[in-house]
Amino acid sequence: MADRYANFANSGLGRTVVKRLGLPDPPRLRRDAAIDGPILLGAAPGGRLSEPIRKLLEAAGAEVVDTTEVRAAALVLDATGITGSAELRSLYDFFHPYARSLKVSGRVIVLGTPPEATSSPSEATAQRSLEGLTRSIGKEFGRGTTAQLVYVAPGGEGAVESTLRFLLSGRSAYVSGQVIRVGAGVAEVPADWDRPLDGKLALVTGAARGIGAAIARTLARDGADVIALDVPAAGDALADVANSTRGRALQLDLTAADAPARLAGYLAAGPRAGVDIVVHNAGITRDKTIARMDPSLWDAVLGVNLTAPERVNQELLSRDLIPSGGRIIGVASIAGIAGNRGQTNYATSKAGVIGLVQSWAPLLAGRGVTINAVAPGFIETAMTAKMPLGLREAGRRLNSMSQGGLPIDVAEAIAWFASPGSSAITGNVVRVCGQSLLGA
Ligand code: NAD
Repeated sequence: MADRYANFANSGLGRTVVKRLGLPDPPRLRRDAAIDGPILLGAAPGGRLSEPIRKLLEAAGAEVVDTTEVRAAALVLDATGITGSAELRSLYDFFHPYARSLKVSGRVIVLGTPPEATSSPSEATAQRSLEGLTRSIGKEFGRGTTAQLVYVAPGGEGAVESTLRFLLSGRSAYVSGQVIRVGAGVAEVPADWDRPLDGKLALVTGAARGIGAAIARTLARDGADVIALDVPAAGDALADVANSTRGRALQLDLTAADAPARLAGYLAAGPRAGVDIVVHNAGITRDKTIARMDPSLWDAVLGVNLTAPERVNQELLSRDLIPSGGRIIGVASIAGIAGNRGQTNYATSKAGVIGLVQSWAPLLAGRGVTINAVAPGFIETAMTAKMPLGLREAGRRLNSMSQGGLPIDVAEAIAWFASPGSSAITGNVVRVCGQSLLGA
């Protein structure tokens, strides 16, 4: 659905009106794959990441500088050397001089050590402080700037490239104020970063329209063969998605008692006898306050959004249909983090998706399979077009980008999780919400 206000605000007259009246000012976000430069790379004394990162960014063709007279496109600070609160001053010293000069749609990345992996309470305290800085910068800098904190476990220096490429590019346009954890280990380097999923088979549920269709197209763009799954009633739209991705369509109602077994049978009989990437995107809403909610509305939402992904995972894993290197990716929601009036059923199911990620991540580590989720905020789809005008406008504007996200924004985050380069990323829930004011 067209965001008429954003179009107006970006017109000649609109810019004047917005400025004079102090109205929300939604910038045009860049969504391209390029890593724009110059990237100003700094480090607090004793940091362990700036040198490996300089090397990998330069190898990727990025312009990395230590100081800049011109506008930087990105500010990257290695804060892993900070071991006590007095040293937090180096955050101010790095960001203060450049805070006003970052380019439009700039990128801010702070790299830290996970507090639980530090060697003293004072180091853990200081590293935990980084969250407040990055989230505030996301709210302060504006003009499409995103700001993230990336905690890299000791020994994870060789596993950060896919994350930096994603966060520095326009593909993370609607991801801001996030805390991302990269574990230890050396990640595979895709032969071609433009097609990192070459040779992989992906399953996307709920792929006939909206976010699911965008996920199918994005994974196909990145080289994957895609099986697009949706209910039989969505057959025509599903066939269109499958055709446009040169993939296969699978009509299946995931809530049917035999759905996991039928899906497993279909995958086992395929050329790969399994599937590398499983994206649980299918989801429904049936909104009512709990006082007015019929039990069937509760059951329907829990059944599609939570029980179906759980049952499918269990079936595919017990039949060894997700090989090492596999990826399971859930689609939660900011409603699952903050709760939402009229959505007790939906928020319960989406908080459950987060629980699924957190409980399964350690269990799957031994198999070489990762599990993560995105938590979208307000995304422009058929689902949100149905919202009453007032709520829709609030959803669009109450975030650091002053606009709704697009299905492609969610799809890009999923493609980053799916990349072979993201093997050390598991147990993460990353919001794609433009740093919505809803939720933590
Ligand atoms: P959508 O309604 O446009 O698409 C959902 C798809 O899932 C549909 O094609 C539908 O047929 C399919 N589906 C539903 N029940 C199914 C079942 N039993 N078996 C197989 N397929 C089934 O929704 P969307 O806006 O594209 O949302 C996609 C996902 O993103 C959902 O999980 C949703 O909860 C989540 N999400 C969306 C937003 C948003 O702003 N649109 C925000 C947060 C989370």
